[in-house]
Amino acid sequence: MAVVQLNGRDVPVANVFCIGRNYAAHAAELGNAVEAEPLVFLKPTSALVAEGEPLRLPAYSNDVHHECELVLLIGKGGHDIAESEALQHVAGYAIGLDMTARDVQSVAKQKGHPWTKAKGFRGAATVSAFVPAERLADPGQLSFTLQVNGEIRQRGDTSLMLFPVPAIIHYLSTVYGLSEGDLIYTGTPEGVAAVKPGDRLRLDLQGLVSAEWSVAG
Ligand code: MG
Repeated sequence: MAVVQLNGRDVPVANVFCIGRNYAAHAAELGNAVEAEPLVFLKPTSALVAEGEPLRLPAYSNDVHHECELVLLIGKGGHDIAESEALQHVAGYAIGLDMTARDVQSVAKQKGHPWTKAKGFRGAATVSAFVPAERLADPGQLSFTLQVNGEIRQRGDTSLMLFPVPAIIHYLSTVYGLSEGDLIYTGTPEGVAAVKPGDRLRLDLQGLVSAEWSVAG
């Protein structure tokens, strides 16, 4: 069973929701329009790789990109959660990677197929330990970075989200319902690029928590 870490304990993961195109500059770098409502896709829990485990690239892709994202852990589930109540449902905040086989995704987009093979392979999701929600006053004012081999590749600021955290929780809880243990990947800022064997990826959430993974050689 997939688990994540909160306050030094294992929390079983329920669903893994992801939001696409949630930063205008990233939508633009891939030539995508901004969406009128959140663009949602799912990853299987088997996509999660524990911290320190090697990131294996799928053999069927030649263009696997990093997407560094704020990740939410739902503590209290619910349906039709109002934006004003949304943050009370969050148990913690973390920093993670939505690894994406961009070449496979491009074909899927052309054919109108789901993105699962591009976004759901083993190793397609990583997440740091979670910072307890009570330690963060405002998830709308967070900066985060991704370094690859010591160089900053992505720099995010959650104030630039097109759908902020309360809007995402309201939307997901209304359409799908949210459960304790759900993870929500909230979208990537600009700067996505391909990784290669041996790359070291270091993620940091505003100095509160960091984590590192290496791409298998
Ligand atoms: Mg993403």
